[in-house]
Amino acid sequence: MKRRDFLKNTSLTGVGLAVGSSLTSCKDKTTDEKASVIPANKNTTPIALPIVIATWNFKNATAKAGQILQAGGNILDALEQGCMVEEADIKNESVGKGGRPDRDGNVTLDACIMNKDGNCGAVVYMQNITHAISVARKVMEDTPHVMLAGKGAENFAVSTGMKREDLLTESTRRQWKEWLVEAKYKPIINIENHDTIGMLAMDENGDISGACTTSGLAYKMGGRVGDSPIIGSGLFVDNEVGGCVATGMGEEVVKTVGSFLVVELMRQGKSPQEACKEAINRIVNKPNSNYKNFQVGYVAINKQGETGSFSIHEGFSMAKYQDGKNDNLKSEFVVKSKA
Ligand code: ASP
Repeated sequence: MKRRDFLKNTSLTGVGLAVGSSLTSCKDKTTDEKASVIPANKNTTPIALPIVIATWNFKNATAKAGQILQAGGNILDALEQGCMVEEADIKNESVGKGGRPDRDGNVTLDACIMNKDGNCGAVVYMQNITHAISVARKVMEDTPHVMLAGKGAENFAVSTGMKREDLLTESTRRQWKEWLVEAKYKPIINIENHDTIGMLAMDENGDISGACTTSGLAYKMGGRVGDSPIIGSGLFVDNEVGGCVATGMGEEVVKTVGSFLVVELMRQGKSPQEACKEAINRIVNKPNSNYKNFQVGYVAINKQGETGSFSIHEGFSMAKYQDGKNDNLKSEFVVKSKA
């Protein structure tokens, strides 16, 4: 449905008012004009749509998704294909093919997707299939379930025509062998073992969906599943309020149901930035929190098209595509890196 019709329908039925208080049609729009939403805070500057944001500097992914949306494409196609850019890139050693393995040398992928209607699909501990995000989408669209694990997920992917591949590359095999032998491995916060791509998009109707895909924590225990494929932890979308995605130490995100928390804080009136900050502080301020030794970062968008991000450690960023511009924006943080 085109945005103009969406606005017309919501005002005719009255249903839109909860949402519609923040979604306002621009006066005398011509068909060539860009879609926009006007922030509820009465800031008169319209925010240009579509918007795509992602964890870290995944600008290739936000560019891909942004271009698809800008051309009038479907939001789930945009998110899926944006994530696929990173899953296929073997230089990205934390997502898809070329992702770092667990300590047994197996690359195991986690992914999920959630749409504007609150439907979702996920795969966990899946091996030998590069595009975990596509399998997650198929779980949502073509099965009565929300999550498939391990062999079941892999077999389902193959049944839909996807090919099995060896996801370990020369580089990740060599690094894993070094890790096994040298036993002097020290994770470097931000760089070495955290880099999940979580993406959120708002299309020209003002509707929000999200996706998340990862090979998880490098050298994790066999069988370990993190936050990324868990709805409410690695990703949550409520199209009346906003969406959030997480990256970093998945165990800490799961323990605080991080992405759901951020969305609920936005529902209570916090901006995306404030909500991300409070969710990070929940982790930092826990009794005996070990936060100095791990990273967690959130990025979020609300229904007014406002975005925000926050992390424990310096070095996290948010890629953002809007109005043909694709930026990497540094996040605010709690702990400054040592120079
Ligand atoms: N959140 C991911 C996990 O714990 C890791 C990451 O973001 O790098 O599996």
